[in-house]
Amino acid sequence: ADDVALLDGEWSGRELVAEQGPAPVLAIIGRPNVGKSTLVNRVIGRREAVVEDKPGVTRDRVTYPAEWAGRDFHVVDTGGWEVDVAGIESKVAEQAEVAISLADAVVFVVDATVGATATDERVVELLRRSGKPVVLAANKVDGPSGEADAAYLWALGLGEPHPISALHGRGVGDLLDAAMAVLPAVSEHGELRPTGPRRVALVGRPNVGKSSLLNKIAGSERVVVDDLAGTTRDPVDELVVIKGVPYWFVDTAGIRRRAHQASGADFYASLRTAAAIEKAEVAVVLLDASHPLTEQDTRVLQQVVDSGRALVVAYNKWDLMDDDRRPYLEREIEKELVQLTWAPRVNVSARTGWHTERLTGAIETALESWDSRIPTGRLNAFLGELVAAHPHPLRGGKQPRILFATQASTRPPRFVVFATGFLEAGYRRFIERRLRETFGFEGTPIEIAVRVRE
Ligand code: GDP
Ligand code: GDP
Repeated sequence: ADDVALLDGEWSGRELVAEQGPAPVLAIIGRPNVGKSTLVNRVIGRREAVVEDKPGVTRDRVTYPAEWAGRDFHVVDTGGWEVDVAGIESKVAEQAEVAISLADAVVFVVDATVGATATDERVVELLRRSGKPVVLAANKVDGPSGEADAAYLWALGLGEPHPISALHGRGVGDLLDAAMAVLPAVSEHGELRPTGPRRVALVGRPNVGKSSLLNKIAGSERVVVDDLAGTTRDPVDELVVIKGVPYWFVDTAGIRRRAHQASGADFYASLRTAAAIEKAEVAVVLLDASHPLTEQDTRVLQQVVDSGRALVVAYNKWDLMDDDRRPYLEREIEKELVQLTWAPRVNVSARTGWHTERLTGAIETALESWDSRIPTGRLNAFLGELVAAHPHPLRGGKQPRILFATQASTRPPRFVVFATGFLEAGYRRFIERRLRETFGFEGTPIEIAVRVRE
């Protein structure tokens, strides 16, 4: 406890409490086979082996953390999504639209050896309408002789084409420099409206009952959007009033339109889910109580946790449960969601409407936690006591000491702990557990970063 008090005085704390917004998002888009995946791998330093020559390799994740010139950002990877040759143009456009909506800036990849196609021009139209900054990459320029091909792409009207070889790395550094120059310092998606209805993403694997639930809760009350002064709306978002409280349900078009079960639909669904989560402040992950948890369910849950959004877990189709099965199901749930014990859970039935009004209580709780800030004094008093009672275990005769901690930001709560040495993962989890026991944080992920100071 002395350490904490001492250092609290030594560092004013002001320099440490710099508000850090979420890292900006760079989307890499383009037609299939132009080399998007190859470029993403290069940017995030992933091994080239991941790119396979046969298309259609779907991946679990669509955004990856990356760093260039000392800046942190996220890359949206739209590669690996297979499109049917028949509907290729519209699908590329649709995919691009989702990716653009996710992004703060876009790298548009064109195959310089092929030149601009009609599909490329359609994407350019989307890019123009989005108003997002764009950097044009002319890929597959493996040597100087290809530079002329790249120059033809001036005709797209997107400014200078950057000749690159994603395969060999040629020109990729210059491309990233150009991207960094237009990428905002902080994600626009982080600048969530401080006033107006909160933004909710209703997500979950196909057939869990998302559209049924939306219809049930949206059906009851209607509002005139103009009544809400100062709110701008995205046409794919829907205002839903529950017990008199309005919420924006984001990207409901994706819920209402039945996803066509073409190849690549999984990946497309996961991209759409990511887009909805990014736009939202809180995600309601819908699970089917009448079925065991699937891998796809866990993946959606993980997407929310990774995104740092508040989380509510809703078990739907509870009407299918018979009383004998309930205790068994409860145990199953506890087992599967052991790392997510902090997320509030609600049992609902979209079919009968049973308990759907309870969703709002859980949403409000999760958002309150997501927004919450622990004053530095209280935080350090808590940590002082904790460390005095449970010091970090001795390792090789050394024992890292915790000096000081501060909550660097909210939405979600992020803590920075200053210590004299690296803190073991087990000890960090212990701190997190105690933080939750003491301060609540029901429904929000929390992050703990450790900075080592001598
Ligand atoms: P995506 O569908 O846009 O993600 O494209 P991929 O990254 O899967 O690449 C499609 C094909 O183009 C693969 O066979 C890559 O090896 C190849 N490719 C990608 N970048 C380059 C490049 O810079 N030069 C050459 N010659 N081939 C490339
Ligand atoms: P989505 O793909 O997640 O939008 O799921 P849908 O809303 O289309 O629902 C998939 C199927 O589950 C439909 O046949 C629904 O009628 C059914 N369903 C949805 N909610 C419930 C529920 O609470 N109870 C029961 N028994 N069936 C439901």
